[in-house]
Amino acid sequence: MPELRKDPVIGRWVIIATERAKRPSDFKVEPERQVGVNNCPFCEGREELTPPEILAYRENGTAPNTPGWRVRVVPNKFPALQVEGDLDRRGEGMFDKMNGIGAHEVIIETPKHLKNLTQLSTKEVEEVIWAYHDRMIDLKKDSRLRYVMIFKNKGSLAGASLEHTHSQLIALPVVPKRVSEEMVGSREYYSFKERCVFCDIIRQELQEGTRVVEENASFVAIQPYAPRAPFETWIIPKAHNASFENAQKQEYEHLAKILWQVLKRIEVVLSDPPYNFMIHTTPFHHQDIAYYHWHIEIMPQLIKFAGFEWGTGFYINPTPPEVSAEFLRKAKID
Ligand SMILES: [Zn+2]
Ligand SMILES: [Zn+2]
Repeated sequence: MPELRKDPVIGRWVIIATERAKRPSDFKVEPERQVGVNNCPFCEGREELTPPEILAYRENGTAPNTPGWRVRVVPNKFPALQVEGDLDRRGEGMFDKMNGIGAHEVIIETPKHLKNLTQLSTKEVEEVIWAYHDRMIDLKKDSRLRYVMIFKNKGSLAGASLEHTHSQLIALPVVPKRVSEEMVGSREYYSFKERCVFCDIIRQELQEGTRVVEENASFVAIQPYAPRAPFETWIIPKAHNASFENAQKQEYEHLAKILWQVLKRIEVVLSDPPYNFMIHTTPFHHQDIAYYHWHIEIMPQLIKFAGFEWGTGFYINPTPPEVSAEFLRKAKID
């Protein structure tokens, strides 16, 4: 059983994997190595190579765990957390810990062996977004859980071990520190100004225009004013809404379009870089709040964070967001 342990100084929880504990020799830096199409467990027809599916959008009349699906969600074969059991929050001397309860799932975005989300049509991307939505609604029913992080690692340098395009989710019994920092910061802004900080960002960015990458009826994509890394991109819904899973049906259609376009621009400008994206949304017990606003953050992995960043939480970014926004806007994507 994995464990969640809390840092007593700053209150950050970490997951300690107790099974499959790695030895020093397991951490050798190896060259890029990925499972190709011939051994890919995510390809249609190899359904038996993954744990049984939790959710799939399928053609009528096809049986679970057989071909005929369009998007398929399965438990991670090597989960960071375990679904069954009690949390058993407890102390260990001065330290706090609990059992590593949670969910770790893989969203297989297409039955075809494709490496990029942008090789899908926007209609197909929309179904991937619906899978995120449906899993989140389902996991919210589990009273042991407090947060779901949906994320994508693209490329082995961004943490992906399989090239077949997929995303993941991890459901946690605690609210991660990054998330609560964002909640606290936006609550403070709101209590001072009586306006949502993200709604204010959208207004100002659309007015100025220099950091805007893409816009449609429901979303705007920007390079944030103070990005941690080059080409960091945020996609923010124009209508105020705290939680991703409460968005309107049409917003998911528009999200699929802008996500596709932004990822395509990043691919074109940066020659198909490794990247991560994360959906930032509210913890389960903070729904419908005025001060938080869900959004997606995309981080192309172009530079390595080193001692200064680790030690200070300060970032040195060599590309001004006004410059990266212009590159992305000018990219030819059709
Ligand atoms: Zn595959
Ligand atoms: Zn807002």
